[in-house]
Amino acid sequence: MIFLLDSHCDSPLMLVKGADFGQTVQQGYTPGKFPVTHVDFAKMKKGGVNGSFFAIYTSNSLSPDESTRRAFELISGVYDAVEQNPDKVAFATTPAQAKRNKKNGLISIFLGMENGDPIQKDLSMLRMFYRLGVRYLTLTHAGNNEICDSCAPKEKRWGGVSPFGKEVIEECNRLGMLIDVSHISDDSFWDVLKYSKAPVVATHSCCRALASHSRNMSDEMIVALADKGGVIQINFYPAFLDNEYAASEIWDLEDIFELADKAWQKDKSNVELQQQLEKSVIDMNAIKKPSYKRVVDHIDHVVSLVGVKHVGLGSDFDGINTTPKGLEDISKIQRIIIELRRRGYKEHEIKAIAGGNFFRVMDAVQRFADEE
Ligand SMILES: [Zn+2]
Repeated sequence: MIFLLDSHCDSPLMLVKGADFGQTVQQGYTPGKFPVTHVDFAKMKKGGVNGSFFAIYTSNSLSPDESTRRAFELISGVYDAVEQNPDKVAFATTPAQAKRNKKNGLISIFLGMENGDPIQKDLSMLRMFYRLGVRYLTLTHAGNNEICDSCAPKEKRWGGVSPFGKEVIEECNRLGMLIDVSHISDDSFWDVLKYSKAPVVATHSCCRALASHSRNMSDEMIVALADKGGVIQINFYPAFLDNEYAASEIWDLEDIFELADKAWQKDKSNVELQQQLEKSVIDMNAIKKPSYKRVVDHIDHVVSLVGVKHVGLGSDFDGINTTPKGLEDISKIQRIIIELRRRGYKEHEIKAIAGGNFFRVMDAVQRFADEE
């Protein structure tokens, strides 16, 4: 039986904005009825999803104390949502626990942390987040931080992983915390491979060979990740999937949307701001989107490089403003499975891609920690 796992969604952001994941919300951005989400528990069930990593995302722009506070706020939001829906979901920290949850008819919620800022420069904080259930650490996000450089800024701070970052990697290995290389710079990636004794993951990244964005991984990186036993989980964001889409005016429209959203969040009764926000969403959605089949093209590419054991799915839902055509929310994720079948993948291969590969790495990282 397939265990369908999504290794990255930003849904905790929606939970703290007030979304009720026990209630399904119609897809499509409706200002005034915000938040409208790509994910909720009914949509996950409809999509046949058995488990998801909910990302505890903090912006690199926060001060250290603000980022730690924000991380607790987001974790608390996820704890609340799980507690309020005991008939639908349950926490998981291991593949074995997730499989038991599935037997009991429950979807598993895992925690990951996107950006290491909340641990500040204190490994005891890393250990506390692990104790709270966090099972992967994305070392940074769109800025260079105390741990390593990000792929986003032109100016790098460390030229890879910092001396403190090296300690973080060693502690993650010791604890059994997965290290996530999505968002980090190429130099940081190569340092992580050098310093980490356990396999590492890219929880939501695509292939540079098919879409040349710096957030994506080169063939050389994918081969090295696989050689170390790791896995790349394909992101659904159209601009990471497709060069043509990335060359459109989407980036300018994203900026306009962010500003409009920020203004409207502060003054939700302002009709003019609401109209600006609606227009920015309509403009973004007017750009021709790649099909959901493009996600499978990226899977095919990884398979052609390193075989079926090193690829999976990391949607980035609720963290992206547009989606591929036909993959508008998590309820439609079965289309990817159907497309894999159509392209001739065997059932055991689909099982590996759907979640088996990521679980194998989780178990390997835990085994490594137990043996340390
Ligand atoms: Zn991300």
